[in-house]
Amino acid sequence: MIVFDLICPAGHAFEGWFASSASFSQQREQGLVACPNCGDTGIAKAPMAPFVGAKGNRNLPPAKQRRDTRRGLPMAGGREAPDLAKAMQAAAQAQARALEGSTWVGDAFAEKSRAIHYGESSESSYSTPIHGRATAEDARALLDEGIAVAPLPFPITPPDELN
Ligand SMILES: [Zn+2]
Repeated sequence: MIVFDLICPAGHAFEGWFASSASFSQQREQGLVACPNCGDTGIAKAPMAPFVGAKGNRNLPPAKQRRDTRRGLPMAGGREAPDLAKAMQAAAQAQARALEGSTWVGDAFAEKSRAIHYGESSESSYSTPIHGRATAEDARALLDEGIAVAPLPFPITPPDELN
């Protein structure tokens, strides 16, 4: 058996299992391969990412889907863009430097922040600054309690996820 990532003209992606590549082609030509979402039989193999070759180009997802996947990316452009990129890089490096003496506490961030603030933390290792993850809700609650926390402007790869 072989599994193919398939896509219909409306952009629905789904998986299909076939005995072989030839079997897929044959079933498709007979109109036996239909989209589970809309029933369209104009099925094509979805391009793999990254995909190469002229043959793959015919299988590009429809424009609608391509537009959807690109929606909402924060972008900057114009004459100032190169300076902005440099500034962002410098800021990211500044953040990394600022966090060098800070302890990663992961999802325990809200808990540890409270423990430090209310003096409940007996762990001396947390006399250093900490950084970690908190939900927007947690962050708001911490600020409401007068605990000094701030969102980091750049994403961080947790140390335990580096490998
Ligand atoms: Zn469909």
